[in-house]
Amino acid sequence: MAQNRSCPSCGENESFTQVATTTLNLGEKTKWRCDACGYRSIRIGSAIDTAEA
Ligand SMILES: [Zn+2]
Repeated sequence: MAQNRSCPSCGENESFTQVATTTLNLGEKTKWRCDACGYRSIRIGSAIDTAEA
């Protein structure tokens, strides 16, 4: 599964691949990886983006 998203590392929209999904009380947590640079981000529900160290 892939999705075009804004990548803060590349500074433009890139294709992200979904690498994991976890269901939490808050909603579904999904991990994404930028195909271009490998940047990883986590999305919880539909709105929150958090960089993964
Ligand atoms: Zn990137």
